[in-house]
Amino acid sequence: MVAVSPAGQQVEVDRDSGELRITGRGEDSAARTLVKLARKLGVEVEVESLESAPRRPLVYGPVPSRRLGQSLGIDLPRGVCTQDCEYCSVGVPRRVSPEERFEIDPTTLAEELRTALGDCRPDAVTLAGVGEPTLCANLEEVVEEIAPLVERAGAELVILTNSTWVSECPAELDRIIASLDCAREDLYRRINRPHPDLSLDHLVEQLEAVSEDVTVEVLLCRVGDVTNAGPDHLRELAGLLSGLGVREVQLNTVSRPPARGRAEAVGEGGLARARRILRDEGLRVEVYR
Ligand code: SF4
Repeated sequence: MVAVSPAGQQVEVDRDSGELRITGRGEDSAARTLVKLARKLGVEVEVESLESAPRRPLVYGPVPSRRLGQSLGIDLPRGVCTQDCEYCSVGVPRRVSPEERFEIDPTTLAEELRTALGDCRPDAVTLAGVGEPTLCANLEEVVEEIAPLVERAGAELVILTNSTWVSECPAELDRIIASLDCAREDLYRRINRPHPDLSLDHLVEQLEAVSEDVTVEVLLCRVGDVTNAGPDHLRELAGLLSGLGVREVQLNTVSRPPARGRAEAVGEGGLARARRILRDEGLRVEVYR
């Protein structure tokens, strides 16, 4: 058997001898986790060396963002997400249950961010990256540590989330942009391809808890003969969002090629119609392309 960890190590198991070999460059912590897991499964592991590899930086950019200006990104999730959206342009390596949380060392992140902010003047510092940032179990601690640095730099502290644990977003965040593309479970499963443990009802409950403080991002697309841009569905979505107390919506469509999915963009006409339907429900709507 050969497998590759999200951090890039290759794991080989020799079926005859039962020997397990971990090779390749990646983070030490990921290699250690693999060793621990193998031992838990009863595989004998002999560690010859866990070669030190350079740690993948947590901070990246700044990158130009249509919505946020120059945005300095923080890659909190590092390759895990609760969904595998048809339109995802990054192709998250691992889809996980919402219960599979991770932690980040706030001090290491703050040090990296301090250095990065010494070299640039971003408009926003954005918690996003490859995957879902609200899976970070110590998000509150992380935000508490970095918020003063971001404030001193005169930037906004923003999180981009698929809403999995959006109710846990700390008050120190300046903006929460949370996704909800569908008002129907079947459509949600087709377009966003969530982990079996995640349901649309869970996302709706999460959003309800913070509805007045979030901007909801709705991405409209087609996947084969399925779309979330049909007028009936949009009316349902508009009713759901306004019923939750959401005030602001950002509409967009597919703008980069999906890494693994088949999603296609909807046209200008589809976006304009969607804006009308959502506005009729009293929502403030902006369109980004
Ligand atoms: S929620 Fe975001 S990161 Fe996760 S699969 Fe969808 S587009 Fe990719």
